[in-house]
Amino acid sequence: MTSTVENLQHAAERKAFAVAIDKFLNHLDKSDVSERTETYLKLIDAAEKFWGKNGARKETLDKVREYVKNPENRWVKFINRVIDETDRNYAKKMLLNLGYEAFFRGTKMIRANREKYQCNIPWLILFDPTDACNMHCVGCWSGTYGHKHNLTFEEMDKIVTEGKELGTYLYMMTGGEPMVRKNDIFKLAEKHNDCFFGLYSNSTLIDEEVCKKVQKLGNITFMLSIEGTPDTNDSRRGEGHYQAVMKAMDLLKKYGIVFGTSICYTKANIEAVTDTKFIEFIAEKGARFGFFFHFMPVGNNAVPELMPTFEQRKKMIDKIRWIRTGDNNLGFFPMDFQNDGEFVGGCIAGGRNYFHINANGDAEPCVFIHFSNTNIHEHHILEMLQSPLFMAYHEGQPFNRNHLRPCPMLENPELLREMVDATGAHGTNSESEESVEQLCSKCDDYAAGWAPIADEIWASQKHYKKAYENYSREKIEHPELAAFEHVDGSDRIESADEKRA
Ligand code: SF4
Repeated sequence: MTSTVENLQHAAERKAFAVAIDKFLNHLDKSDVSERTETYLKLIDAAEKFWGKNGARKETLDKVREYVKNPENRWVKFINRVIDETDRNYAKKMLLNLGYEAFFRGTKMIRANREKYQCNIPWLILFDPTDACNMHCVGCWSGTYGHKHNLTFEEMDKIVTEGKELGTYLYMMTGGEPMVRKNDIFKLAEKHNDCFFGLYSNSTLIDEEVCKKVQKLGNITFMLSIEGTPDTNDSRRGEGHYQAVMKAMDLLKKYGIVFGTSICYTKANIEAVTDTKFIEFIAEKGARFGFFFHFMPVGNNAVPELMPTFEQRKKMIDKIRWIRTGDNNLGFFPMDFQNDGEFVGGCIAGGRNYFHINANGDAEPCVFIHFSNTNIHEHHILEMLQSPLFMAYHEGQPFNRNHLRPCPMLENPELLREMVDATGAHGTNSESEESVEQLCSKCDDYAAGWAPIADEIWASQKHYKKAYENYSREKIEHPELAAFEHVDGSDRIESADEKRA
């Protein structure tokens, strides 16, 4: 629990940030680049001071300062563009909640609590308000839950209240379709108006009324599911879905709401969703960021044949990294959940950076790992983080020193088998239970086939600091700044299987 003095200090700090943000937004002069550069530099100074000696290294921050000083830098231009096109009230709330609360203050609290409690403390918590959905996508595990579980408003409130005590100010929701519970979600965002919420949505329930409400609240964003062309999209998600996404994008853009995409890449759609024209198109529609997810063969109705081929995965790595280079000017920042492990120190689950609470209240290490020893109905968030399976994640991360093989399920299935057996975690899908053996046996051939290819790619690349790997063992750099730190191949981390040897 935080003390009165801490609460007063927090309120004063937030107010000071709000005044600074107001000043910045009220004096936005689109032609005055130098004024913006000054503001960004002041923010970096403030971050350095705020995080103190446990923050990012001075050399790292100096590199960021260099980037910021160049107004022609692609990502500086990108940030300026997002600020210009975003509704002012929304921009202020986003900067306060995502910037000050989650990035500045939350990061500091999380780092202190990791030390204090000797367990993972996450930067974000993902939960499912419901497993009900108005669609029936091919291969979606959500349908196997039976579409009948819901978290009550009080349970969602408990998640956020307890998460904030530990320093977590970012919450994402999936399901099911979270917008089925839009009234409770709006109530939650209103009550916790110091947090930021991201909703993975199928777009179908986003209308003018929703956009007006979200614009006013200012602390909700959407990640819209889309899978390429109308054909590749609707063949998995159902006829008419593509048009629903287009409509939602137009509305969100019109109301100045920042939004992104959520793209599950499969053997069938990977060419379409990585096509430069497709990325250009969704950027024009207003999407500014996107999460790409490798198809996972999770659940009894999974279609393992949809898993991308190794050749496709190799191309995926190259394409996403190319989109992030300065060799193009796409107004879109992509993140690849399966291939970007290097930038976040490997697997981020089990509360290391995030974990998942399903609509039945079970806390799972990851949205793809349906095993648990703990439930929100009985336990505090801290107890969940200290539960046996979460502690096995804490002790085991990173699961592979080759961060192109990060997952204890997909690329290292023997490790998930071991962890689930050793901790007695139970399956969380009571409607259609899948044993750890059933799940992992779908990944064995994939893991064995991908290992030599991933090791070859890994050996040929430059890599990031090896200290940035495990919160439990080594002091690490700030994850959000790690992308600025390269080391060359001579400091390359050990061979892929060394950790287990
Ligand atoms: S468990 Fe696998 S899919 Fe989930 S965060 Fe870890 S590496 Fe990624």
